[in-house]
Amino acid sequence: MNRTLGIIFALLLAFSATGAELDRNVFSLLDLNRKGLEKVKALYQEGKETEAAGALLNYFRERKGIIHPDVNLEKVSLTKTEQKWADEALAHKFFAHKGYQPSYWYGDDINWAYWPVKDNELRWQLHRHKWFVPLGKAYWLTKDEKYFLAWQEQYLDWISKNPLATDAPKGSAEEENVRFAWRPLEVSHRLQEQIEQLLYFIGSDNFTPEFLTSFLVNYHRHADRIIHNYSEKGNHLLFEAQRLYYAGTFFPEFKESETWKKSAVEVLNRESQAQVFDDGVQYELDLHYHVASINIFSKALRMAAANHSTADFPAEYISRINRMITALYNLSFPDYTRPLFGDAKKSGKAEMIGNYQEWAKIFPEEKMIAWLASEGKKGATPAYLSHAFPDGGFFTFRNSWNSDATVMVVKAGPPAYWHNQPDNGTFELWINGRNFFPDAGSYVYAGDEEVMKLRNWFRQTAVHNTLTLDRRDLVQTNSQTLLWKTGTDTEILVTENRSYENLSHRRSLFFVDKKFFVIVDEAFGTDQGNVAIHYQLCEGKMKLNLKEHTAATRFNDGNNLFLKSFSPDPVVMAEQEGWVSYEYRQRAPRKAFSFSTEKRGDQPVRFITVIYPVKNRSEEPRIEFNVNQQGFSSNGLNLDISVNGRSYRLAYQLPESSKK
Ligand code: CA
Repeated sequence: MNRTLGIIFALLLAFSATGAELDRNVFSLLDLNRKGLEKVKALYQEGKETEAAGALLNYFRERKGIIHPDVNLEKVSLTKTEQKWADEALAHKFFAHKGYQPSYWYGDDINWAYWPVKDNELRWQLHRHKWFVPLGKAYWLTKDEKYFLAWQEQYLDWISKNPLATDAPKGSAEEENVRFAWRPLEVSHRLQEQIEQLLYFIGSDNFTPEFLTSFLVNYHRHADRIIHNYSEKGNHLLFEAQRLYYAGTFFPEFKESETWKKSAVEVLNRESQAQVFDDGVQYELDLHYHVASINIFSKALRMAAANHSTADFPAEYISRINRMITALYNLSFPDYTRPLFGDAKKSGKAEMIGNYQEWAKIFPEEKMIAWLASEGKKGATPAYLSHAFPDGGFFTFRNSWNSDATVMVVKAGPPAYWHNQPDNGTFELWINGRNFFPDAGSYVYAGDEEVMKLRNWFRQTAVHNTLTLDRRDLVQTNSQTLLWKTGTDTEILVTENRSYENLSHRRSLFFVDKKFFVIVDEAFGTDQGNVAIHYQLCEGKMKLNLKEHTAATRFNDGNNLFLKSFSPDPVVMAEQEGWVSYEYRQRAPRKAFSFSTEKRGDQPVRFITVIYPVKNRSEEPRIEFNVNQQGFSSNGLNLDISVNGRSYRLAYQLPESSKK
């Protein structure tokens, strides 16, 4: 049977079946004493369950007073992408993951356990049913019943093939399936989106009272699964609580709705303290999840505000969100992008402007949020430029908030969780519209050996802009800030990480005249071996001069960079494998290189790197540095460097308390 015929048969089946049978459990889950449900209660008490379900359907079709802040039925729009997901779903081609396109076909008789590439995300995310809301919107806009029938068929098929079999034998296929289909994060995704699906579909003539009972019982099972199986920590827990809050607020008819809300409020308030440092940085140190967390916290707040429950979230909760947004714009570049540290992915400018517009509604008095929401038409930029987030360990050198700015974001923080990478000391440098040192990103999350091999390449310390011993990953990621000095012509950050058993990496960064950078890397300790510093440039035409220890970009748009490294130790410059991944399962080759030396004794080894912005090749500076000068010590630096004949003094003395 060819595929088209198969679809027709599947649709015929859906037409001929009643869709769903009445699930009488629904009546015990609902508070039938609730105002508006009098008729449902009376019919139910008379034993007329079908009629009672009919009255329940009418009740939900006509229900007023509960506001969904993210859905406006007067203004539904369907993007081209959503239309594609909806249309492909009619043929059982399900959009599971952006990194796996085109979408896979899951069979006429849907195989929800189909797992063509053993990447966990591909299998987990199938169970988010991301095409269901697009089907709902397509239905709402066209009233074409094919969208409703496809949704109903798939919705019921999913229920019947994915039982929440918590007692399935360990190692059985059923148990494996529960791990994917009922992982709390996926459950929470469905919990949130089923509300929208109901709003779009409930008006269909094919939406039967029986189907409503199946829907509500299934929905209740989802909320129940969350509240008894929260993830332990991290962004998953936040997502789960916020979505449970949506469930409790949107369905006050469930007896347990207040319990769900109360639990969600408790988790969100508690975790907004636990997962966000006082400086506003989310503790996974991944700016993608930082943004996701801001959105989680503000979504819950928006739902509360729309339904007269603002008291659920006290001032401290709201002030945390504000600090998180402040951290975000300080760690972002003027084009609304931000470093791809950890597992972060690139996000679009339009998406970020949309975010700031939403946040501006919560914080109308915040001038920088207004400025970003309006692309500079309203509001104002902060009075300061460079800024530190000492708890999260992010430091931004900045000479302007405008598009011609030079912005370096350095990552040197505490240990963090799964999405974090062993990259302390690394940085991204954005100048005048170009990110010259984009972080490698993550490429993939987790799966079988083959998938993990890909992931682990992108996680390596050596593919970041920092120091390694024998190219090994850092064994510790717990940087100490020794100095942060701004407001002077030359701004300074000194950060140190005990990177290996007996080797500390001290990195001193000088933002000289707020124009160019000098990075002094020192490796102290008794460990011996090959010590290297690594640099990863952006894609494009580059010139590496391995003899002269220089690298230069060769763009034709008058925005280039020149890098030169010096060392008192015998150093070799070498090219290394370079990749950058802005999106899941997408990567591009780029130039990367290292400077390395053999550390043989207890004496420290040192590298001095100058990074100098130029318009073009003719502007590449003449940089001189006397590697024998006596300005190195364990508690400070006092060095002179000459650029085009002009001498610059790079000096600091560590305060007594931070001396080693
Ligand atoms: Ca990285």
